[in-house]
Amino acid sequence: MRSMHRFRFLSALLLAGALAACGHAPIGQSAPPKLVVFMAVDGLPQRQVVDYRQQLAPDGLARFLDRGAWFANANYGYAYTVTAAGHASMLTGTYAYRHGIIGNDWRNLETGEVQYCTGDARYHYIGNPTGKLDGTSPNNLLVETVGDVLKRSNPRSKVIGISGKDRGAILPAGKTCTAYMYMSKSGQFASSTFYMKEHPAWVDAFNAARPADRYFKQSWQPVLADAAYAQSLPDEQPWFLIKGARLPMTMGAAQDKPDGAYYGALLRSPFVDEMALQFARAAIKGEALGQDDAPDILTVSLSGHDYVNHAFSAESRLSHDHLLHLDRLFQAFFEDLDAMVGKDNYVAVLTADHGFMPAPETSLAAGRNAGRQSASQTLARVNAALAQKFGAGTWAKFFSASALVLDHRLIDERKVDRLAVQEEARALLLKEEGIAMVYTRDELAGNTRAGAPLFDQMRKSWNAQRSGDLQVALKPYWMFTSSSSTTTHGSPHPYDTNVPILFYGPHWVKPGMVSERVETSGVAPTLASMLKIAPPATSEGKVLPIVAADAR
Ligand SMILES: [Zn+2]
Repeated sequence: MRSMHRFRFLSALLLAGALAACGHAPIGQSAPPKLVVFMAVDGLPQRQVVDYRQQLAPDGLARFLDRGAWFANANYGYAYTVTAAGHASMLTGTYAYRHGIIGNDWRNLETGEVQYCTGDARYHYIGNPTGKLDGTSPNNLLVETVGDVLKRSNPRSKVIGISGKDRGAILPAGKTCTAYMYMSKSGQFASSTFYMKEHPAWVDAFNAARPADRYFKQSWQPVLADAAYAQSLPDEQPWFLIKGARLPMTMGAAQDKPDGAYYGALLRSPFVDEMALQFARAAIKGEALGQDDAPDILTVSLSGHDYVNHAFSAESRLSHDHLLHLDRLFQAFFEDLDAMVGKDNYVAVLTADHGFMPAPETSLAAGRNAGRQSASQTLARVNAALAQKFGAGTWAKFFSASALVLDHRLIDERKVDRLAVQEEARALLLKEEGIAMVYTRDELAGNTRAGAPLFDQMRKSWNAQRSGDLQVALKPYWMFTSSSSTTTHGSPHPYDTNVPILFYGPHWVKPGMVSERVETSGVAPTLASMLKIAPPATSEGKVLPIVAADAR
């Protein structure tokens, strides 16, 4: 034993010397956290975290803001800021051009078949029906996460992802971890056969209590009195996705008993998030997370805010109140984490997969250039003009993950110059009222336009194997028309890229506000540093300037 200790001591000295020689501080003595609780709020712009600061509970988000570290100007460094791409970026430390999750779905460039980000027909949900485009595995994620590195470094470590959405659970956890997602048809949480044959007993016990049914006929009540919401858009805006939506809002108002429509509607309320955090508590207890010296990671992505913002916008009173509910849920969760894991034994992180654009109606009322661009009409206009120039035919096949895909077979058949078609298509796209910038496959693959407007961000959204021929970014305050959203996200503009990064954990986190611009790709290497493991292999982020001196 003694020689083993001496060997370790000598190795540590050598390693410290090597690090000091290349300019890093020597490794400190403090142990890694027993648990990393990594939370994401789906669709939370950073501005919402600070806009209601005076209305926060004493120990919810305020724990991060008053006693943790937070970033005023943290941004995603890529362009197509959608849920799957964001969740895949969070703990890989890179963007879609490397991790491959270019959108929530994309189309096979040859066949046009839709590939859902986490879709994998080889697997199905446990105890629940699985639709064709449901997410069951991380197969399409091309790179490793912090969780994958942790499990490889320490086989006793556990990494579990939980979310209202399958992509929110599967992608932050990683390739070799475990995921559980909310089933919007049954109100249960389930894993898939990719991860296990059957659920552990604690999952069955959680579902047997029918956790979603207890909200039936319950009301989403505002946290504060009406006057507190004066800065936000009143309820019942005529352009809301759900006409006449207002608080208080009764869950299952139109149903006789809980059914699929009711379980689905819970997603657009604070109740789905309360359930996800309840399931997280059950996971901590059931899997004994944070109880030994092998660090664990629990990722929890809370989906409700995104559904609320798509329907009513982040400027609405409904969204404002939804965040205040989340804040109170965080306070209760912190209290339980302190009791279950130990007050100073864990690091908590909170971020978001993207922000949100104000509704076009709000922007127009404020005098901004704003609007909705129809993708199908754009495609039709581009094809009509290409046919005039290059001959009859459908030269552009479809849009996929914000890129136009050309028909290469037709181009070959007609012996037309591919670059000429591509350039003409770009010129046509740029004539459209809502389109800001278009870069071609050749430019993106060759990185030939470095420094051009939005080019670097768009290049980091474009994957050579999966993306189309002409990557498109819309103008600020413009969106593609959608029947399921009154407003959306997915642009390279600050309202979509600027998200919260909040850290708490006294031994590991240096508290304070950081105003300098940082990228979200810094979160993964920062957590790896606190866990004393290597960053994910393809991580490109810089360690954020908040690691406590004795945790380095
Ligand atoms: Zn999202």
